[in-house]
Amino acid sequence: MAKKKYSEEKLKYFEELIQKELKESIAYLEDISHTQSKGARENSGDLSSYAFHQADQGSDTNQMEQNVMLMEEERKKIRKLNDALRRLFDGHYGNCEMCGELISEARLEMLPYSTYCIDCKEKMEDKKRRQRR
Ligand SMILES: [Zn+2]
Repeated sequence: MAKKKYSEEKLKYFEELIQKELKESIAYLEDISHTQSKGARENSGDLSSYAFHQADQGSDTNQMEQNVMLMEEERKKIRKLNDALRRLFDGHYGNCEMCGELISEARLEMLPYSTYCIDCKEKMEDKKRRQRR
């Protein structure tokens, strides 16, 4: 079965998107872990560049928990981005894992690590919603 594929140029473009997101995610993760370890050691007010300005000082632990969650999310994203890169090199990138159709360009631009087209994604979420009831 001949699959539809994105052109080399498009793939190159998506690769750049992924690389860029990956770099941002890693920088973001480093930023959080840096803040995290710093915050744990000394609770000085020297967190200037970070979003600790959000007023209430009583929520330090909340902030820490939130950071852990953010880091977890970011790690997941990095994993997905790496998977996407692998698919790109293997030549599977851009095809829906469910139906094999091309995932729309707009969707890949928003979520370059998408593995399902919007239709399949919606179907799955629909199913999930129904299962939960
Ligand atoms: Zn699909």
